[in-house]
Amino acid sequence: MSTLINQLQQIVGSAHVLVGEGVLSRHNAYCSDAYDAALLVRPKTTDEVAAIAALAKKEGANLVPHGGMTGLVEGTASTSGDIIISFERMSQILRVDADQMVLIAEAGATLQSVIEAAADVGMMPGVDIPSRGSATLGGMTATNAGGVRVLRYGMMRENILGLEAVLPDGTVISSLNTLMKNNAGFDLKQLFIGSEGRLGLVTAVSIKLHPKPAKEETALVAAKSFADLVALLGEARSALGADLLSFEAMWPEYYQLTTSQPGFGAPPLSADYGMYAVIEVALGTADGPSLLEPFLETAFEADLIVDGVFANSMAEQQRIWRAREDSDAVETAYDANLSYDIGFELKDMDAFALQLGKDLAEKWPDMPIFFFGHMGDGNLHIMLGLQADMMKERHSIDAVVYECAGRFNNSTLSAEHGIGLEKKPFLTTSRTSEEIALMQRLIDVFGGSINNGKVV
Ligand SMILES: Cc1cc2nc3c(=O)[nH]c(=O)nc-3n(C[C@H](O)[C@H](O)[C@H](O)COP(=O)(O)OP(=O)(O)OC[C@H]3O[C@@H](n4cnc5c(N)ncnc54)[C@H](O)[C@@H]3O)c2cc1C
Repeated sequence: MSTLINQLQQIVGSAHVLVGEGVLSRHNAYCSDAYDAALLVRPKTTDEVAAIAALAKKEGANLVPHGGMTGLVEGTASTSGDIIISFERMSQILRVDADQMVLIAEAGATLQSVIEAAADVGMMPGVDIPSRGSATLGGMTATNAGGVRVLRYGMMRENILGLEAVLPDGTVISSLNTLMKNNAGFDLKQLFIGSEGRLGLVTAVSIKLHPKPAKEETALVAAKSFADLVALLGEARSALGADLLSFEAMWPEYYQLTTSQPGFGAPPLSADYGMYAVIEVALGTADGPSLLEPFLETAFEADLIVDGVFANSMAEQQRIWRAREDSDAVETAYDANLSYDIGFELKDMDAFALQLGKDLAEKWPDMPIFFFGHMGDGNLHIMLGLQADMMKERHSIDAVVYECAGRFNNSTLSAEHGIGLEKKPFLTTSRTSEEIALMQRLIDVFGGSINNGKVV
């Protein structure tokens, strides 16, 4: 062990190899077992990452990449024999080019820093997620992050132009493409996007930039039923086209909880309606005519919505988004919680919500269930409020949720968070054994030794 520490110190300098208490004293993770490894190393350059990977491979040690630690599926969990490789010192924005509409940054750059660098040239990244202050480009690439604008700009996969990655044996694959069109052979970046670190360590990423709308119009609306919201989404797609940025849904229990948090103030709408949605559109000019107002007036006349408020200021916009994004409210309200992100065809989303309520109530009557999510792209988030001692029943609760989801054709157990350790026992509910075997073969070809035991 001391030889390994020495060798790592030679690569990154002694200040950047943490051991024992230095590792344990970090508490910035959503993942409960993130810091069980005895060693944590903080490289500054791709060459250092390559040297660490080659050393780990030679020593038979498993590397666990750590980005912003906001992942929700135990993807950053480590055990005592692992070496954590943290990208916190590789956070530089390397290039911002408005003409080429591209931004290149090191893997440890936070999404917030990317948003700010892009805003300086009137642009923005296509992917935005509520964990933007900590989530990193490397972690977002590894998990193919989605977020609140997927229906307009797609997930990371649609926004990444190129990347640089270090393979488990230390080989550097530099593929930082900046072109919209590049068909020179295989599109290798796709292998690393969404593979949760299993195939390589992402060290830098080039992403598309999009013109920042001159203004965003935001409204919170209430509808009588989920079916009415589906109809409203269809109308919004036709009437607003590419100007529609977000269409996010909340079931009443979730809306009631997030809008009753300390400091929220009076809820913008009463909590008695059937469903709620946050709708955001882009305006090309700051003082141009409203797009959302006439659309919602028509929807109101057609009885698709029954109430609504517009954000007339940045503060009101933030309050509407807080109602949707403050999922931490569930964490603070209960001793413990479980969260899921499941993908459905739109027609099945509400039927699943109803069915899951019944299935859970058979074993756990009165368990609080909260539904919300990215309705525009078929992604439902589910959070369950638990008493502390119920966590020991976690596997049984997960099984009920995934078994219920699996009854709906074309559902997926992970719309955006990935598999990690947490969902691995249930991967077969969404993937065939042949697909899983092919994933394992790819990992073997790439050489293993990163995030071993996760995903498959
Ligand atoms: C409040 C909140 C809201 C969220 N909302 C969304 C949302 O809307 N959409 C969404 O998709 N996700 C969301 N997430 C989940 C999370 O933010 C994303 O999965 C994010 O992409 C993780 O980035 P990270 O840098 O924190 O990665 P980490 O949590 O550090 O790591 C995630 C995984 O990627 C691996 N990894 C990290 N860095 C690298 C690297 N450089 N190379 C290779 N592998 C690496 C890790 O080993 C781990 O398996 C949310 C999380 C929170 C807490």
